[in-house]
Amino acid sequence: MAIYNPKSKKAEEFINHEEILETLEYAEKNKNNVELIDAILEKARPKKTEHSFTCGGLSHREASVLLACEIPEKIEEMYKIAEQIKLEFYGNRIVMFAPLYLSNYCVNGCVYCPYHAKNKRIPRKKLTQEEVKNEVIALQDMGHKRLAIEAGEDPINNPIEYILECIKTIYSVNHKNGAIRRVNVNIAATTVENYRKLKEAGIGTYILFQETYHKESYLQLHPTGPKHDYDYHTEAMDRAMEGGIDDVGLGVLFGLELYKYEFAGLLMHAEHLEAVHGVGPHTISVPRIKRADDIDPNVFDNSISDEIFQKIIACIRLAVPYTGMIISTRESESVRAKSLHLGISQVSGASRTSVGGYTETDRPHDTEQFDVSDQRTLDEVVRWLMETGHIPSFCTACYREGRTGDRFMSLCKSGQILNCCHPNALMTLTEFLVDYASDETKKVGYALIEKELEKIPNEKVKKIATQNIEDIKNSNRRDFRF
Ligand code: SAM
Repeated sequence: MAIYNPKSKKAEEFINHEEILETLEYAEKNKNNVELIDAILEKARPKKTEHSFTCGGLSHREASVLLACEIPEKIEEMYKIAEQIKLEFYGNRIVMFAPLYLSNYCVNGCVYCPYHAKNKRIPRKKLTQEEVKNEVIALQDMGHKRLAIEAGEDPINNPIEYILECIKTIYSVNHKNGAIRRVNVNIAATTVENYRKLKEAGIGTYILFQETYHKESYLQLHPTGPKHDYDYHTEAMDRAMEGGIDDVGLGVLFGLELYKYEFAGLLMHAEHLEAVHGVGPHTISVPRIKRADDIDPNVFDNSISDEIFQKIIACIRLAVPYTGMIISTRESESVRAKSLHLGISQVSGASRTSVGGYTETDRPHDTEQFDVSDQRTLDEVVRWLMETGHIPSFCTACYREGRTGDRFMSLCKSGQILNCCHPNALMTLTEFLVDYASDETKKVGYALIEKELEKIPNEKVKKIATQNIEDIKNSNRRDFRF
């Protein structure tokens, strides 16, 4: 039997089945232990320091107790603390991105994904470099600056060389004032050597969803193909970090397994990265299974209600306060609205989950990976965010200024967000408003920016940001950043 060890590099030791079962037992036993719950909430609460705030975070055991707790007042308190953490560390900025599907060729047998190899109904498609360019132009014309590229796993059709070529193409396109300034990558687990190549290609975050941390279920849900190898998949982030990528993004596909099990596994994974590499995950995503071509989400009997989903988001926020949290257009406008108050810091907008989808006038469904719930345009999502008290941010400064891994975390911890991320958000939002927004969105946006500029504490930073915003409005100068 494997022994739990967060510092081990072996999947079964850092994601340890027995430790998860014991955690769930402990959480169940203590779910009404008000004294313990209060102590855990107190630990999670942000504390004021000389310059800013600090936050204790929670262990997987502590956070699992909160997740198990069903006392309404305590859940309310969790939600309040989650929002407080989010506002202290991230402010009201929401980072915007879009996925870009490169290829749906796939040799795996993932039973929840329509790209599985046995699906002969869907057309297989792989973008040529010319098509990549056209998709990027369409994305730039909406106003996107940050992409997450997606591809199935197929060593013949989508080898690493293809992915690298696509990244090069994406970065090379500058249509009008457009630019993609950060390419995050969501491709199958690969070798240290390939991760090094991705790092050299200038990627932002390497994202890989674990799908499920439950090994036995994992093996059944991935019956064929290289992804069947649970250990290789689970240890991928360690190889990515060994290859020099220090921003990695975790996630599980909620609905496949029992959510409490997944939650404990996810936090153990974060603790493992911190223990071994000195830096936790840059982001955590919370996808839920959706309907797709030959996939019926009702077949998976672990689906979770919106209420549980929100509790999971809040508990993750309490446990890993310095990690960005992502919600995609798999979720509806109303679920996204609520989740923004519980810790989400990044949202996708106007996503098309089909290969070549952005260049089509009408949303194509034939190669779609999953149904998109939130089908609003980027302009609509941006305006909605502003009208609900958020600042949509197209900022990509951190990684381009070398603030990745623990350097980003220390910016977060030192309370410099208001002097750095906040003005960057306002400047990139101005770019969006000037270059891409409708008149209605412009009106809401300029009023918001004027108000938000006043919040910058450092007078010199405020003056420079104000000047840069004027320059963006009155010239073609772009890409200012702190
Ligand atoms: N092939 C890569 C891999 O193995 O990780 C790339 C990722 S895939 C294009 C992106 C993610 O979409 C998967 O990791 C999975 O969690 C999610 N996904 C697959 N089928 C889905 C469905 N039916 N509904 C929602 N999300 C799904």
